[in-house]
Amino acid sequence: RILDSAGPTDWRAYTDLTTESTVVALLADGEPVAAASEGQIVAVVLDVTPFYAESGGQAADAGRLTGPDGTAEVIDVQRPIKGLVVHQVRVTGGQLTVGARLTAQVDARWRLGARQAHSGTHVLHAALRQVLGPTALQSGSYNRPGYLRLDFAWTGSLSPATRSEIEDVANQALRDDLPVTARIMPLARAREIGALALFGETYDEQVRVVEIGGAWSRELCGGTHVSRSSQIGVLALTGESSVGAGHRRVEAVVGLDGMRYLARERDLVTQLAAQLQSSREDLPARITALLDRARAAERRADQLARELAAQRARRLAADAVRVNGTRHVGVVAAGDDNPRQLAELIRAALPENEPGVVAVAAPADRVTRLVVATTAATPATLGAVHLVKTALDGRGGGTARLAQGGAPGRTPEEVLAIVGGAVRAG
Ligand SMILES: [Zn+2]
Repeated sequence: RILDSAGPTDWRAYTDLTTESTVVALLADGEPVAAASEGQIVAVVLDVTPFYAESGGQAADAGRLTGPDGTAEVIDVQRPIKGLVVHQVRVTGGQLTVGARLTAQVDARWRLGARQAHSGTHVLHAALRQVLGPTALQSGSYNRPGYLRLDFAWTGSLSPATRSEIEDVANQALRDDLPVTARIMPLARAREIGALALFGETYDEQVRVVEIGGAWSRELCGGTHVSRSSQIGVLALTGESSVGAGHRRVEAVVGLDGMRYLARERDLVTQLAAQLQSSREDLPARITALLDRARAAERRADQLARELAAQRARRLAADAVRVNGTRHVGVVAAGDDNPRQLAELIRAALPENEPGVVAVAAPADRVTRLVVATTAATPATLGAVHLVKTALDGRGGGTARLAQGGAPGRTPEEVLAIVGGAVRAG
């Protein structure tokens, strides 16, 4: 409707950062309004705008609208239908009215960052194809000031060496200060000269071809770009991951954000080297050596703990009382004991060819836990499961050699006394 009454927006994103514009329409919650006041978030249509609307993976421009009666911050810019640019704004002072004249101004720093990131995406795409071959074709992208990501057709991850090579080819292209140009031409001509198009995208008869260093990078693209590749500054890869079968994603930072990223990495290495009292070059070897030592110390600690437990079990077995020819040990386990492990260790220290009954009781969360282990020569009347069920009023389970269970209502000492009584009774 707005398009019918006011005609298409005069879109100057390729040439201007500032325009003198007239407010053609204001929409609050999708309904036309005559004015919007401070604090309101509204959609604004201008007759002419320098703002880039989000498209082709490039984020929308940020900036301000400044009129005689009020100011607004531009939060988002979209092109819901061809020819119509809609700004989403927050009124920051005074009011905006339909018909008002105002200055529409793109944040120049933001735009420079956006141009660096978008041109950086094209450079990275070309570098990927140079290193991996022409099948590494872009399937999606996103860029905003300082940051870019690019999805491309590829199976398997990229090795660190391949990533370094791609990064190096990209930065060499920045260093070569290649010219960046945009030309409008018929689609057929663009295809003829090998301009890369996004698969599945529909294009007009006349298309815009963006070139970096002529044929070095040639893509159909509606984005805003730097005028020479060196203006991107630096390109640092920050990540590489899978995004579904047959597609990988690379992420990178450019410009000042790229420099800051590399500086942070340097600071991190400096800090690690100081902490580990190592030179930067020796860091990997130093960390490997430390990990080896930590693992060896853990193994030694485990071994010592096992030896201590076995020693204690042997002492407890030596203190076994003899009842009618049966050796009997009854122990209340300590807090960090594993009762079953302790019972088995004590049994292992008793002679297998003589009757022997080991009972370990432990308090556990409102119940008393009992484990009974017996030697092979123990008579069936002193079977482990029988003794556990006797002491726990029918609870518990296991075999004649090893049984365990838990029951409320009795202390560990009381449970052990019942087992001891049963052993004496034979
Ligand atoms: Zn592009």
